[in-house]
Amino acid sequence: MVITGRNAVVRKVVANGFPPLELRMEELNYDTPVKIPASPLAVALLRRRLDCARYFISTCFFTRFDIERLCWDIKIRQHVRHFCGRESTYILHILSNKPLPLVNLSLVAISSALSQDFVSDGPNTSYSLGFIEKVESLALPASLKRALLHQTPPSGICCKLWDEIPIGETVYSPACKCLRCEGQG
Ligand SMILES: [Zn+2]
Repeated sequence: MVITGRNAVVRKVVANGFPPLELRMEELNYDTPVKIPASPLAVALLRRRLDCARYFISTCFFTRFDIERLCWDIKIRQHVRHFCGRESTYILHILSNKPLPLVNLSLVAISSALSQDFVSDGPNTSYSLGFIEKVESLALPASLKRALLHQTPPSGICCKLWDEIPIGETVYSPACKCLRCEGQG
């Protein structure tokens, strides 16, 4: 959905509590080929879907890989600089220079721990089933559970505005009801 630019569907999936997953690998062909997990953010940056990348960052739709390696890996950075354009390079640069607050890092760690079995269960798993229930069963305040399910104001940002989402700042936008966002998916 990210690659084909179906942003309304991406938005719906994120806002409905689907966890960020690495469903396959992506090959980088700079120097020696490197395989990296195709996290939603990695796919958005490598395929120049920068509106999607901005949306994922504003909703904190990160996998562990995004936090641990995507922003820091020299080979990935070289590949992005050579093949993915100035804006992808800029976004990676901002991400690596502006560490996430601890609370966001904790939420990514919890989310990836809860969704681990969805990834390893193979291609026929019904991925979202069970994740929301797992989050609901945690002994956490409701606001943190909503953050884990990405049910926060940024997830409602209108697809038409994704290009303008600033990186590294908290964005609040009223949930969109336009036909482009609500009429699909
Ligand atoms: Zn909209």
